[in-house]
Amino acid sequence: MFKALVLDQVDDQTVAEVKQLSVDDLPKEEVLIAVEYSSLNYKDGMAVTGTGKIIRTFPMVPGIDLAGKVIESTSARYMPGDGVILTGWGVGERYWGGYSQQAKARPDWLVPMPEGLDSRKAMIIGTAGLTAMLCVMTLEESGLTPAGGAVLVTGAAGGVGSLAVKLLADLGYEVVAVTGRESTHAYLRGLGAARIIGRDEMSAEARPLESQLWAGAVDTVGGDILARVLAEMKYGGTVSACGLASSFKLNTTVMPFILRSVSLRGNDSVSCPVERRTKAWERLASDLPESAYDTISRTVGLDQVKDVSQEIMAGQVQGRVLIDPNL
Ligand code: NDP
Repeated sequence: MFKALVLDQVDDQTVAEVKQLSVDDLPKEEVLIAVEYSSLNYKDGMAVTGTGKIIRTFPMVPGIDLAGKVIESTSARYMPGDGVILTGWGVGERYWGGYSQQAKARPDWLVPMPEGLDSRKAMIIGTAGLTAMLCVMTLEESGLTPAGGAVLVTGAAGGVGSLAVKLLADLGYEVVAVTGRESTHAYLRGLGAARIIGRDEMSAEARPLESQLWAGAVDTVGGDILARVLAEMKYGGTVSACGLASSFKLNTTVMPFILRSVSLRGNDSVSCPVERRTKAWERLASDLPESAYDTISRTVGLDQVKDVSQEIMAGQVQGRVLIDPNL
């Protein structure tokens, strides 16, 4: 028997409870994994609190990320003892996920643990870090270099934002962080932000074109802030968008695109092809310094997941939260 957080639907409300399960309760997939760590992402917060009805089948074990060791495998690609990472693919949404001491997965969902990472480090990174790296790779592919000018990161003190600030600053970019919380300023400077702008200032309605300020941007919030970011991009600049923490809506004009050759590029981590996701994990393993893992994590057990889920939905989480199902 092992412990897992199980979501059920009672009177149209999502109820989360730590339960004892057996391997026979798990879905019939090829690889059985001893989960060493999982993590908390915005989407996990939505799942556990029942926000946005992203879970449609109950009972469900949430947790869109997991890392651990293979216990058993009927796939020739994985052997007992192999270190593996799983993020996305609908796991923790449509398929049982990582808030569990054991999980079953399809071999196609797994990435072998890269050299230089372990389960703890991989889950400090998690979907948030993978997404941050995908956003950075998109900016690099657009031709951005540190000499091009300042790069803006919105929702900077959140999971994706924190890791984007850290990655970009370590690559030599001048990073400007947008945050709604004054309490995070010292933390953001510690990650490498050169300057900080308040969320209110960035939320003000933008004219179709504003002064050209940013060579690149990573946007995790959408809505009015993304509209302003687009209007403030330098000629030829690229915005790497991935999130909707403010809004999924975007009320903008074509002006930045047709007069300044600005590009808006999307980034998805859930169905990101294996080749690109493996490259992103290898980059994360090589680019993130040891110090990144100390400054951006705190660890909680399965019985605290409900509390931290409410915190992330209220925009109160700083950096990354690691989930240890074995605590
Ligand atoms: P977090 O909650 O950790 O971070 C979001 C941050 O956004 C907050 O910390 C806060 O930063 C800011 N924020 C919160 N509410 C608002 C608001 N109303 N207006 C403006 N800013 C706000 O979440 P994650 O970092 O895990 O995820 C960030 C976003 O990216 C989410 O929308 C998530 O769904 C999305 N995402 C997308 C992925 C993809 O594959 N495309 C993968 C992973 C995440 P601060 O306090 O600094 O202002």
